[in-house]
Amino acid sequence: MDVNQYSGQRDPFPGQVHQTPGGGILTGTIDEVIKWARSNSLWPLVFGTSCCAIEMMSTAGAKYDWSRFGFEVARATPRQADVIIIAGTIVNKMAPVLRRLYDQMADPKYVIAMGACATSGGPFFYNTYSVVKGADHVIPVDVYVAGCPPRPEALLHALITLQEKIRNGGKRERIEIDGTKK
Ligand code: SF4
Repeated sequence: MDVNQYSGQRDPFPGQVHQTPGGGILTGTIDEVIKWARSNSLWPLVFGTSCCAIEMMSTAGAKYDWSRFGFEVARATPRQADVIIIAGTIVNKMAPVLRRLYDQMADPKYVIAMGACATSGGPFFYNTYSVVKGADHVIPVDVYVAGCPPRPEALLHALITLQEKIRNGGKRERIEIDGTKK
């Protein structure tokens, strides 16, 4: 029996159930099961700095309800989070704080850059002395979300994309605060 018929197409369970008298046996690789469990229990650290944060809050609210996808416990401390959602403009003064929060998060950890400001500096790309032109100048980013601001559906799509990336064992390059890649 294929257990995936009970789990839906989007999020297949990594294994097979073999029926035996009185029950069933699940077989699968522990690596696949760990990745599946990890992708479905992400704890977001919210880093809302400006207008995109309102859309992020809406995504967590009752109408869009990101808890349905496994992002249940939004935290205000990096020690209890493994995915940071950067929602808003990052200024130069804030960049070291963002880096410190990222360093304090539990491993393995992930990053979503939400909106034009977090991905590229957005409307402040030109003619500003204070805005960081994208979060990936400070920390590595896993998923970028376009828009100014992105709608909640776009953030949900980014979260689901991150889940797929985790299940697929997606690899990332590490970017140091001075911009060098490792
Ligand atoms: S991308 Fe647009 S909506 Fe989001 S923080 Fe920047 S200016 Fe505000």
